[in-house]
Amino acid sequence: MGKVIGIDLGTTNSCAAVLEAGTPVIIASAEGGRTTPSVVAFTDNGERLAGDLAKRQAAVNADRTVYSIKRQMGNDYHVNINGRKYSPQEISAIILQKLKKDAEAYLGESVTDAVITVPAYFNDAQRQATRDAGRIAGLNVRRIINEPTSAALAYGLDHGENQKILVYDLGGGTFDVSVIEIGDKLIEVLATSGDNHLGGDDFDERIVQYLVKEFKKTEKARIEKDSVAMERVREAAEKAKKELSQLTETNINLPFLWNGKGGPKHMDINITRAVFESITSDLVKRTEQPVLDALGQAGISASALDKVILVGGSTRIPAVQAMVRNITGKEPCHNLNPDECVAAGACIQGSKFSNEIMAGAAGDIILMDVTPLSLSIETIGGVATKLIGRNTPIPTRQSQIFTTAGNFQTSVDIKVFQGERKFTRDNKLLGNFRLTGIKRALAGVPQIEVSFDIDANGIVNVSAKDLGTGKQQQITITSSSNLTEEEIARAEMEAKMYESEDAARREAIDIRNNAEAYLYKIEQAYHDMGKKLDRSVRSALKADISELKKRIVKAKPEKITPVQAGEIRQACDKLEQTAGMAGINIPGGL
Ligand code: AMP
Repeated sequence: MGKVIGIDLGTTNSCAAVLEAGTPVIIASAEGGRTTPSVVAFTDNGERLAGDLAKRQAAVNADRTVYSIKRQMGNDYHVNINGRKYSPQEISAIILQKLKKDAEAYLGESVTDAVITVPAYFNDAQRQATRDAGRIAGLNVRRIINEPTSAALAYGLDHGENQKILVYDLGGGTFDVSVIEIGDKLIEVLATSGDNHLGGDDFDERIVQYLVKEFKKTEKARIEKDSVAMERVREAAEKAKKELSQLTETNINLPFLWNGKGGPKHMDINITRAVFESITSDLVKRTEQPVLDALGQAGISASALDKVILVGGSTRIPAVQAMVRNITGKEPCHNLNPDECVAAGACIQGSKFSNEIMAGAAGDIILMDVTPLSLSIETIGGVATKLIGRNTPIPTRQSQIFTTAGNFQTSVDIKVFQGERKFTRDNKLLGNFRLTGIKRALAGVPQIEVSFDIDANGIVNVSAKDLGTGKQQQITITSSSNLTEEEIARAEMEAKMYESEDAARREAIDIRNNAEAYLYKIEQAYHDMGKKLDRSVRSALKADISELKKRIVKAKPEKITPVQAGEIRQACDKLEQTAGMAGINIPGGL
């Protein structure tokens, strides 16, 4: 079996790592980045782009560029592009396919297996959707693990001593906080909390709002509805935010941002760190309560923490670091790169499946996760009756006996919910099924055993059994927001098809480019040799040059088809032959 790669499928950026000689190595993208923007775009000619290429063209193709899809994972949401609907799983699969391809290029072998991380706060539907995305991308997802657990694993490698740590993870779109116990051979998540809708994107948005307001004030320009201008502002806002982690003031300069009645307007606005901190202070504050909640659930005070780890690019913001320092009374450590340690931990977990050997004593660490939210079933009056409390270590199995509410009731509906609220209407319905064939009896007599099974990936199986008759029903929770088996299989096929189509298109573009370069060199040589050439050879050469030129011009780079590429190749080969006869020996390179 080949290597199992670790993937941090982030809201803003994703990262892949692989264990090499016992040490996690971050896989560079084809574009040379250590992380890959979680951005997907669809071009005019139907090509799918992912990562830097998608992000780079976003300003000119805003309507067909998809950002932060992770926020929609597990939701019944679709992106509509070119009249076709894409589920969050399909969009995520395009990002995963890109990471897979880059990993294959790096390793020089095919990659089939991966461990993918998710925020600890992700519910079942979101985990399942992530798994489906992996499958669509052609990956065998060996395990879904929590991001903070993964980070702890990366740190566990480095340290290994007994300690309780708090992982504060503020990424692009999600916030997680976990209290983790690292033991000699065990990493246990004691508690998790967080906010699925808070991250660096929100900080960017605050700067965007500030800039739009200032621009309106000074230039009387309204750019909110101009998607191209807004995209430029958004890009500049993120850049400014990052700069403000180092500098106390920065400048946003966007020439020709808006073209109104009074001519073009240029944005030139300074923003200080103080202003940035004042417009984002509530966002930083919003992370405080989950930290206290996690500590409370773990039953420890901040002073009992041995370490505080910062994960996620947004923890580079000084105000965030100050807040963590304040609330925990500890200097947070970041000796691993906050953007990379989650992927690094995932590949360590992945290496267990391929029996690779890790460096150091941490090789046989056992990973223990917890359920992020309580699981319950609905009982009379819409009450959520808990079977498994939040933060229960998984895998786990819990059973409880229930009975009927009405006389001679022969069936019961089992509705499964996830969440902390007392009434099911406030929690999330994961799924339901009916147990039929219960022996007719007075209310309260039948004994129905309901069991919850959560596997190591946090995927839930629920079964109900009438102990009187032995009748049993069960479901694997696949919430309504997940794709059906057929939809996944179709998406998987499509993804494969697009991959080979994209490869063919890229090859065609390469053929065209090389032919163009070759044509240029031949034309130069033809020009230089001019009259020295035999007449008949000269006219043959001229004809072949003109034929190749015609083929190249006809095949527009953004729309070139494999047939056109074939014609170019033919014309190029012919020209190469004729040129050879004329004593011009420049290799065609096709
Ligand atoms: P992640 O999902 O962990 O890659 O985090 C990405 C988020 O971190 C994005 O919102 C980035 O803008 C943000 N980020 C990256 N570097 C910095 C920095 N130096 N200062 C502030 N935010 C940053």
